[in-house]
Amino acid sequence: MVRIPPDRGLRVFKLFKSSPPPAAAKPEPPSAPCDAGCDGGDLATSSDETPFTGCLVCGEDLVYLPVSAELVCVLCGAAKLGSARCKSGHFACDACHAAPAMDVIEKVCATSDERDPMALALRMLRHAAVKLHGPEHHFLVPAVLVAAYSNVKGEPKKRAERVAEARRRVAPIMGGSCAMLGACGAAVGTGTFVSIVTEATPLKGKERGLANRMTARALTVVGATDAARCCKRDSMLSILAAVKFAREHLRVDLSARGPECEWRPVNKQCGGSACPFHR
Ligand SMILES: [Zn+2]
Ligand SMILES: [Zn+2]
Repeated sequence: MVRIPPDRGLRVFKLFKSSPPPAAAKPEPPSAPCDAGCDGGDLATSSDETPFTGCLVCGEDLVYLPVSAELVCVLCGAAKLGSARCKSGHFACDACHAAPAMDVIEKVCATSDERDPMALALRMLRHAAVKLHGPEHHFLVPAVLVAAYSNVKGEPKKRAERVAEARRRVAPIMGGSCAMLGACGAAVGTGTFVSIVTEATPLKGKERGLANRMTARALTVVGATDAARCCKRDSMLSILAAVKFAREHLRVDLSARGPECEWRPVNKQCGGSACPFHR
């Protein structure tokens, strides 16, 4: 088990203590109905038969390659560059891995009037289409943030387009980017959120600066765990970093706080005490 020095753990934990405890932050029960008309995401009763973690075909652990290679996706048949396949040789491309989840995330966030981005995130993090790990989390983070921001700001008519724009922008971020690029896709999603709501462009100095500082803040928190990737943990850390940043720089109170982890029993690479969501 990976452990982090106490002082570093405290820095991560400080993020939670600084967030106010809103009434809406309590996680919903797994059986809560989903806006997308699904089964509510209760893993125990899910009708989705694809494995929740590991290889999408057989559930075996993934093996990472030392360098990217052209691999043939067992689901769509396309030859794509990949950096991991399972012990039995199955490779599922990012698009096939994330496609069902991306549609659920977009539909829920485009239509929800939820003002708490963590409460919105938890509904989808528990959804059967959203696997334990995967590039769908790169979209989930900016999607819940732009949706909650639009609702808190009284701009519901901008919500669906902002969510759709977030999906288009994060699409190129590869699965495993946290380790392969040195930039967790969920954390980068917080910069995408700031970019969208401030209408940043490469020519707008202040907005571009804010977006990059947001990403840096989230990456610092994600990196501080020094633990194997956990897309649930890193998504929730990124959301909390964005809530704090939005309060300080966008003058918007999105009011969210960190829940207790509920994926520890199914995550073979769980960071244990390195994860601030373990209480
Ligand atoms: Zn497999
Ligand atoms: Zn594919």
